[in-house]
Amino acid sequence: MKNSVILKIKTYPAFRKALSESGCNACTLSKSRSSIVVDRGNPQSRIVLIGEAPGREEDLKGYSFVGRSGRLLDSVLEELGYVTNDDCLLMSIAKCRPPENRVPTQQEAETCLPYLKKQLHLARPKVIGLLGATAFKYMLPERKKEPVTSVVGKLFKDAHYPETRLMVLFHPAYILRNPSKRSVMKAHLKKLMTAI
Ligand code: URA
Repeated sequence: MKNSVILKIKTYPAFRKALSESGCNACTLSKSRSSIVVDRGNPQSRIVLIGEAPGREEDLKGYSFVGRSGRLLDSVLEELGYVTNDDCLLMSIAKCRPPENRVPTQQEAETCLPYLKKQLHLARPKVIGLLGATAFKYMLPERKKEPVTSVVGKLFKDAHYPETRLMVLFHPAYILRNPSKRSVMKAHLKKLMTAI
């Protein structure tokens, strides 16, 4: 199915299926990926968490956040009393794995953004957690000059998402490298999850 047709689909499950089976080759990441990774979780939860791009395990399994970062996210959510696949919908800026897990280029991220925007349009989240700098940069390009450290953990509104409150959180990969920040990330996630 062509990208322009996929972007007109009216329900989340149909969109999800069409995109994951589309064989999209809109950018060069299509050459090295195994799967188009659309999401993981519950599209009706109204809580969306957005990461950067799939890694190796996501690429192999076809679901977002099923590697080490995802397991960390699952365990923090579980400590807060949530089940990721029931209570959240996880997705990423880029839907295909960048080689060596590098950050997606601007061209790759911007080519993929219409899919993310469509997912958000269909899932109609009440809160959106932006996991790390890449999600912040592409979801809120007007604010990208602000350092992530000055916005992290704060709930805010944005004119582009009038029905939604947003928060920038530490990416779980950052917590894997800096475990002392886990409790801070957990407190941010609690604030986000209860803002619905
Ligand atoms: N990191 C992300 O940002 N997304 C994934 O799906 C996995 C790891």
